[in-house]
Amino acid sequence: MMLFDSHAHYEDERFDCDRDALLSSMPAQNVGWIVNVGCDPSGAQTAVRLAERYPFVYAAIGVHPQSAGDVTDEQIIALETLYSHPKVVAVGEIGLDYYYEYTTRERQKDVFIRQLETAARLNLPVCIHNREAHADTLDVLRAFRGVRGVLHSYSGSLEMAKELLKLGYVFSFSGIITFKNAKRCVPIIAYLPSDAILIETDCPYLAPEPMRGRRCDSSFLRYTCARLAEIRGISFEQAAELTTQNAKRLYGIF
Ligand SMILES: [Zn+2]
Repeated sequence: MMLFDSHAHYEDERFDCDRDALLSSMPAQNVGWIVNVGCDPSGAQTAVRLAERYPFVYAAIGVHPQSAGDVTDEQIIALETLYSHPKVVAVGEIGLDYYYEYTTRERQKDVFIRQLETAARLNLPVCIHNREAHADTLDVLRAFRGVRGVLHSYSGSLEMAKELLKLGYVFSFSGIITFKNAKRCVPIIAYLPSDAILIETDCPYLAPEPMRGRRCDSSFLRYTCARLAEIRGISFEQAAELTTQNAKRLYGIF
């Protein structure tokens, strides 16, 4: 049963030593699809290059709220030429981060909204990053009815999840769900309809237990899948099947 890693960052320098060996090994480790997410203009170029090199790697490209203060409006517009690439499947990750606040909330919102406009115009799904910006994220997304997407490494409340479900969003869960103190996600994962759940590594970050603290890669996704299966009361195979089908449907990969 092949897993779908719906969110990874193989452009990260922590993969410089073994990127190609690692990616080449993924199909043999039961990872059949990876969406690699480029978060700024140079990350976007790398994401596209990796997607061109590996048939099972796809790209999402966008400007992360972390980079919103560093990019010019011209650079955001220039990214749009990449969206017609056949392996670019989403706009992301985009959103709001009020935990780090690398730049002003106003600039973050402006960059977020511009990219939602692009997604709406090109009919592409979005990958949303939201950290401690729950109310504003929901407000912005409500203004873009018709845009579909995924809340990556979802950290909001059950109430917010219900609102996002009404807008047609789906939810991706990372290695965080395997942590002992991650109790908040349990009722959310149990509540969500089976067609609204994806899994991801967000590698090199967020390695699941029992690998916590190590550099994460897509082969660790099986631990997150196993925990999801446990919470849902289904088999590993069923969890793998439903999360793979949901990711394929979201990204239009068949
Ligand atoms: Zn990410």
